Order: sequence, then structure tokens, then C-alpha cells
Amino acid sequence: MRILAISLDLDDTLWPVEPAIRNAELRLDAWLRAEHPDVAAKFPVAAMRALRDAIDRERPDLAHDFTAQRLLTIERAFAACGIGDAHVADAFEIYYAARNAVECYADALPALAALSARMPIVSVSNGNADLERIGLRHHFRHCISARETGYAKPHAAIFEAACARLGVAPAHVLHVGDDPLLDVGGARVAGLRTAWLNRSGAAWSHGPSPDLTIADLDELAAWILARAA
Ligand SMILES: [Mg+2]
Repeated sequence: MRILAISLDLDDTLWPVEPAIRNAELRLDAWLRAEHPDVAAKFPVAAMRALRDAIDRERPDLAHDFTAQRLLTIERAFAACGIGDAHVADAFEIYYAARNAVECYADALPALAALSARMPIVSVSNGNADLERIGLRHHFRHCISARETGYAKPHAAIFEAACARLGVAPAHVLHVGDDPLLDVGGARVAGLRTAWLNRSGAAWSHGPSPDLTIADLDELAAWILARAA
């Protein structure tokens, strides 16, 4: 297996996503309580989450676009309180700034530095993290998102878009991610090589095994560097 480029998942691969989402929900709630108390009273965190889940079910056409889902959620919450959409962008910005205030795993930055010095890295994410805001954009040659591509992992199209952007054949691209189905399963079907990031030491039970299983990104960097040497 000759690896010429890396395709990298973001959420739960470079940072745990749940704390960032939770914090973003709380920040938005605090802002609404200060600026739009009627909306905060009608849609406390749990109700806002339920509204977002309802929109997710109701609008499968937005399944690949978490930003659009979130904007629509905020718009609906305002509308339910008889308020127009004048403040939707401000509310989204409060949420989105906190969503991007992620705390990387300790191994993420050293591995990114080592790997990006060795070969091109493309991000492939279903989420709406902004690498520019997070301060990691310089490690990535390209950024591929479900939002822009119109297809979410595990659809082959998002992986094909990443390989096309890199100009590297799928067989020479190693996709690295934490999700057995979205990352490993999707990338394998699209013809990429696969590395499963298994931080919890879980057992593999999702069909054909990944080409590589790593416990952290240090292990990935060591593997790539040893092969390149
Ligand atoms: Mg992930």
C-alpha cells in the first residue's frame, strides 16, 4: 500500500465534538436569555435540541448541512415567538463561535504538524467545523465538507471529491477517522485505504477490517513516517 495523501475526519478524530456542541448550546441559551428572553423561555436548551431534531427529521434534504439545519432551528424559534429573522445571524454566530472553540486531543497537533510536512492532508467532514477559525487550516491542503459537496459520509461522492481535489488516486489516499461506518465503511467503498482511529479500544464488528487500526494519532504519524523513511 503506497500512501501519497491523507484524508482526515475532524469531529471526534482531532477533538471531542460533544463538549463543543454542548458548550455552543449553552452559550446560545445564555445569549437568548439576555437578548431575547421570550425565545429563551420558550426554547430552553432541551427544547431547542428537540426543535433541531424535528427539523432533521422533517428536512432530509438538509441532512448533509448542519449549518442550514441550525439556522433553520434558530429561525423557527424566533418565529414561534413572533420575532422575524433579523437576529438569526447574530444568534448563529454565538452558537458557531462556541462550536469552533474545540479542545484538540493532545496527540492531534504534533501529528498534524508531522504528517502535513510529509504529505498533503485533506479534511473530509460531515460537520460544520471551520478549520480557519480553529487555527488549523494551514495543515490542510484542501477542506471537503458534506455541506459544500452535497453528499455526506459514507457516500462515496464525498471521498471521490476529496481525491479529485488532491489529484491522487483513491488507492493511494489513506482515510483516517473514528467512525466505523461513516469513515472506514464509506472510504473503503470509494476505493480509499482506511485507518480506524479507535481511541477507546473497542472491538471491530462492522464488516471488512480497516487496513490499519490506530489507538491515537501519534501511532498514525509513526506509521506514515516509518513507511516514508
Ligand atoms: Mg468523526
